[in-house]
Amino acid sequence: MSTFKAPRGTYDLIPPVSATYLAVREAIAAPLRRSGYGYVETPGFENVELFARGVGESTDIVTKEMYTLTTKGGDQLALRPEGTASVLRAALEANLHKAGSLPVKLWYSGSYYRYERPQKGRYRHFSQVGAEAIGAEDPALDAELILLAHDAYRSLGLRNFRILLNSLGDSECRPVYRAALQEFLRGLDLDEDTRSRIEINPLRVLDDKRDAVQKQLTGVPLLRDHLCDACRAYHAEVRELISAQGVTFEDDPKLVRGLDYYTRTTFEFVHDGLGSQSAVGGGGRYDGLSEMIGGPALPSVGWALGVDRTVLALEAEGIALDLPEATSVFAVPLGEEARKILFGVVAELRAAGIATDFAYGGKGLKAAMKAANRSGARYAIVAGERDFAEGVVQLKDMESGEQTPVPLDKVVPTLRTKLA
Ligand code: AMP
Repeated sequence: MSTFKAPRGTYDLIPPVSATYLAVREAIAAPLRRSGYGYVETPGFENVELFARGVGESTDIVTKEMYTLTTKGGDQLALRPEGTASVLRAALEANLHKAGSLPVKLWYSGSYYRYERPQKGRYRHFSQVGAEAIGAEDPALDAELILLAHDAYRSLGLRNFRILLNSLGDSECRPVYRAALQEFLRGLDLDEDTRSRIEINPLRVLDDKRDAVQKQLTGVPLLRDHLCDACRAYHAEVRELISAQGVTFEDDPKLVRGLDYYTRTTFEFVHDGLGSQSAVGGGGRYDGLSEMIGGPALPSVGWALGVDRTVLALEAEGIALDLPEATSVFAVPLGEEARKILFGVVAELRAAGIATDFAYGGKGLKAAMKAANRSGARYAIVAGERDFAEGVVQLKDMESGEQTPVPLDKVVPTLRTKLA
């Protein structure tokens, strides 16, 4: 062990478990790739102001959880705590909304950073795959995204997740509701922190996880009873489109989410095997965000799914993904001359697209075969000078143990057929 350890709240992804993470990222991306979403990658850090304005000055993410730094040049930066603000910033900067037809559909995958109290399922460095559809107000787009996340989880074999759905209204109905909510909340017995939240961001109080607060919220006015006609109709259509696909969801009138930019549709995917950190993914519509960061009006919708928690969900359901072995063929040379020739055969196999590894380090036969076993390879090719003198290698089936000579010029086609 070295003197150093991974920083608190972080962990390393190492083989073989890391293969599951890659597969999860790929499984979440696959439905997006099939649905017109293009890949976008943005920097790991941004101007801190982007998140302050975009995510919201009063959110926990901005006030408590951002990793901020001042560069030697005096720039105020933050490690990205979420993806939406960055992706929208990038789309605006590249004028994607002017270049082609709307919506601009983008997906991304990467690391995010929040200075949170670490616990199982909650880390300071975590990984998300996300999708954003920028510049269209259409209930079918909200439904598409919810269905694509649903498809991703189902393709991984997950079953014990639920979709929570709500509408947060728009700039017409939310202010009216907000005032009604504030009036109700001001009459409650709340601590000072929560009281100040009533003035800054009262909707977040609905989201308070403490029992003592939740008890007092009986009879609290709910946004669903205050939606304007346009929001009501919009929400009804989203619900209808999802239901028509046979996908079930639960209405959660208190679902607010921890980011200020949401309007209308908001949703969360929760998994019942994860304990307190049950949200595996979430998202919603953010019609005002573009203007909040200095862009034109661009109604948009998106989500981010947590890769770490999706892996935990797989574990909770006892699902082992059917991952192909990393190595199909393992080459074992016997002797110095054989080593050079076989090294060339390995390159040929690799060029033919066959995943091949080699016994490095001048191991003896026994240690080399052990390495072959450990690699998971289906076949080993073993060859010494005598074999090469006869123009063959020995092909060993690692399952049956059977060994047969194969002419050197037939190694690639033989293995290609056997592995097909
Ligand atoms: P949010 O942007 O907070 O809605 O996060 C979207 C998803 O990212 C969540 O549902 C989690 O799966 C994941 N996530 C957020 N924060 C963390 C964290 N600190 N550790 C691990 N996963 C996280």
